[in-house]
Amino acid sequence: MNDPTPLAGLYKQSYSQRQSLLAEYANLTDGELALLEAGLTPEQADMMIENVAGRYALPFGLATNFLINQQEVVVPMVVEEPSIVAGASFAAKLARTGGGFKTSSSDPVMIGQVQVLDLPDLDEAVAKLRSAEADLLAKADHDPIIRKFGGGARGIECRPLPDTPAGPMLIVHILYDCRDAMGANTVNTAAEIIAPMIEQITGGRVNLRIISNLADRRTARAECIIPAKALARAEFSGSQVARSIFEAWAFAVADPYRAATHNKGIMNGIDAVVMATGNDWRAVEAGAHAYAARDGRYTSLTEWSLVEEMGEITQLKGVLEIPLAVGTVGGATKAHPIARVAMKILGNPDAQNLAEIMVAVGLAQNFAAIRALGTEGIQRGHMRLHARQVALAAGAQGSLVQEIADQLVAEGVIREDRAKELLAKYSNS
Ligand code: NAD
Repeated sequence: MNDPTPLAGLYKQSYSQRQSLLAEYANLTDGELALLEAGLTPEQADMMIENVAGRYALPFGLATNFLINQQEVVVPMVVEEPSIVAGASFAAKLARTGGGFKTSSSDPVMIGQVQVLDLPDLDEAVAKLRSAEADLLAKADHDPIIRKFGGGARGIECRPLPDTPAGPMLIVHILYDCRDAMGANTVNTAAEIIAPMIEQITGGRVNLRIISNLADRRTARAECIIPAKALARAEFSGSQVARSIFEAWAFAVADPYRAATHNKGIMNGIDAVVMATGNDWRAVEAGAHAYAARDGRYTSLTEWSLVEEMGEITQLKGVLEIPLAVGTVGGATKAHPIARVAMKILGNPDAQNLAEIMVAVGLAQNFAAIRALGTEGIQRGHMRLHARQVALAAGAQGSLVQEIADQLVAEGVIREDRAKELLAKYSNS
């Protein structure tokens, strides 16, 4: 019988075996596999940013076991930190025991901001803008391609800020459905187009016209339910592990010092997929952390709860909902050759489905981190995986990398100075 989980056991394969399995799974051509090796050409790199003097490669890994809305998904992740791909794959495997991840998302509506100053009466300006909303929207709706796909300008909102260090000002939001684009360029253009009209209507003076990265109209949500019995590990019962995950989450809810690290763990997973697909991880990071502080205090982005039956914990339930402004067109998504291969591996989802995959990965990553923290601690597993990077940093090459890493783990001293000593010893022997 075929294994129902695509690419299961990938961690046991060699680099080249993984490439063959991936090619077969995602129907990659030899040319696409070659792109995974070559990445950007110097000419492409030179066209992407300014003053280019080289190219910088990062590992491209694959997280397995993801079942999202009953669909199998193999997730490409680009990241330099060990344990992230393993953690996501492990968490996704446990989530399968409860049916995997269920996801949903809002329409891809972004916010553009126009800052209006020198207004004697903010309320009067708001009233004038409200009555001109239809004209403003018609003017803002500048992109025929986005319109063709069912997107475009959606609404005008006014946010008076009567008391700022520069005095009173009115902030006008233009809501814009960007469909499969991340939308920063599109929305910035819309904000710039309507600015003179806003000055004319209000008599005020416009200063900034720019997208907001607090994309709280463009959210993606994932949830999973894990049976407690699937959580049992070594000396810990399933209900003990479930409770410790719940307690770890409560810590992050109540304490911003912990919440920052808790949310960093979520973003470990999300950023890696954002990177793999050529999206803007600074935009996604900014949106996530601003959202985590939306009620005035920085807190956990996830929510974990326990289901009890007759005094026994039977299930652990996790939810993550965050702003996710990612696209499948525009920016570097189509310009970066590896991003195109990553999208093919994902089955070429649209922007909403891509965001839903990312939010499922974020929830899995959070689970993996707090499960490890609440049981054996993360250092044992993490440092074992980190040992190879320490050996590399010490200058080891070829088979010596694994040999030195194994020795560091056996000694329980995973430090570069010890790796250098071992390297000198092995190189001289
Ligand atoms: P873009 O302008 O490169 O592409 C978007 C365009 O693609 C649309 O205007 C549309 O004409 C076209 N398109 C084709 N098919 C489409 C479809 N199915 N759905 C939607 N549009 C379709 O990119 P963008 O998404 O407007 O901007 C993203 C870029 O802006 C990123 O590189 C980002 O880093 C950058 N940026 C970000 C910020 C910020 O986040 N604060 C600010 C400025 C720029």
